[in-house]
Amino acid sequence: MKKSIFIFLLLTFVLTFTNACTIWQSVPGSSQTDEPFPIIDMHMHTFQWNKYGEPPPPNLITGNIPEARTNAEAIEAYMAEMDRFNIVLAVGSGEMEMVEAMQLSAADRFLAGTEFPRFTTPVNKRLEQWPNIDELRRLYESDKLQIMGEITAQYAGLPPNDPKLEPYFALAEELDIPVCFHTGFGPPMSPYMGDPDFRMRYGNPLLLEDVLVKHPNLRIYIAHGGYPFIEETIALMLMYQQVYVDISAINWLLTPEEFHAYLQQLMEARLGNRIMFGTDQMIWPETVAMSIEAIESALFLTEEQKQDIYFNNAADFLRLDKSIYLPGSTEYVDESGARVVEVVTSEIRMRPAEPGDQETVSFNLQLGGVTSTAVQVTGWDIDDISETDLLINGKEIELPQGIVADVAPKTVTIDLEEGTLIEGENTITFVFAEAYEGTTGFSILDVRILLRD
Ligand SMILES: [Zn+2]
Repeated sequence: MKKSIFIFLLLTFVLTFTNACTIWQSVPGSSQTDEPFPIIDMHMHTFQWNKYGEPPPPNLITGNIPEARTNAEAIEAYMAEMDRFNIVLAVGSGEMEMVEAMQLSAADRFLAGTEFPRFTTPVNKRLEQWPNIDELRRLYESDKLQIMGEITAQYAGLPPNDPKLEPYFALAEELDIPVCFHTGFGPPMSPYMGDPDFRMRYGNPLLLEDVLVKHPNLRIYIAHGGYPFIEETIALMLMYQQVYVDISAINWLLTPEEFHAYLQQLMEARLGNRIMFGTDQMIWPETVAMSIEAIESALFLTEEQKQDIYFNNAADFLRLDKSIYLPGSTEYVDESGARVVEVVTSEIRMRPAEPGDQETVSFNLQLGGVTSTAVQVTGWDIDDISETDLLINGKEIELPQGIVADVAPKTVTIDLEEGTLIEGENTITFVFAEAYEGTTGFSILDVRILLRD
């Protein structure tokens, strides 16, 4: 969300809100276990400490003025909250200089995004600035950036399906870069107060539909829950199951009642596996605690659902190796006594796909004492012909025909030759090999490794 004027406008509300919002106190990020459950912040910003003025303005809800007076202090303040709440990964965007500073400070706990379009000041002569596509490509290919966005097209008066955005979506799809797309609302009175092109109607997430049809492999999540477009958000996510949503900003800007009512509707629509935690932290690190409290105080959520929102859904969306953050959690012993390591737990979808498209998953194994190994794959394909190649550590493994018979998922277990799996890091790659008669693609839903001593 872009906030320049918002802040000042809503300052007037602060006093009235403050009393009503004593619930928004800092609390521990998790309950019941000693080790707090890991959290991924899918939406924060690496803003300069003085982005909104010197001294910085108070938080809209609490009225507290941030303490940071240098950019380094601003980064430190957010990172202190990461430590306090076990935020293991943050997805942030801002200007490159601050993104790079954050990357240096957080190294392996930060995924860097680029926010665009930007606007020059002063407001009455503002110019829109869009990143150069070739430069963006270079930044992604050199791994300086890992996320596209937050894309805030609404502030430029563009609907999500505007042709101006097309090259960016095409690039993200080509390079398999996750996209954070601003949806929903913005600072009240924006068109009169610094964002003359802002249009509320362009916050409607359903306007992404044509983009999703054109770019079926785009990995996109919509920011701010699509609020307040609940029906359109549900409609979009029901039909397009690759779309995830973050609940940033609405979890601390709205009243707890309004946020909970909104979140509950998303949950009741069975979207609980695609809702991701985010803060939209800008210059107020206390919004981290406020955002967590908004989940902790949601009595309709089970512990498991909270963990999905805090961590699992984002880990699925980003295709992270969960075992890095949840040691031991992806491994169990089955009834036959085999050690089972869960390698893939969310859908790998190549439908539609082009020949050569592939997805690789990395995972760690401890093989000490293992005498036999097998891989168990659950998936489906509708045309009775295997278009899928399976490679383990680069070696092709025959995928039984049973898995490609019909739409109902089938599970096959394939015994592996000795030496196929190795101690430490392994990879599994699915390659879409060849299209037959237009019935292209496949889905892999679940992959497990079976280890027998
Ligand atoms: Zn936003």
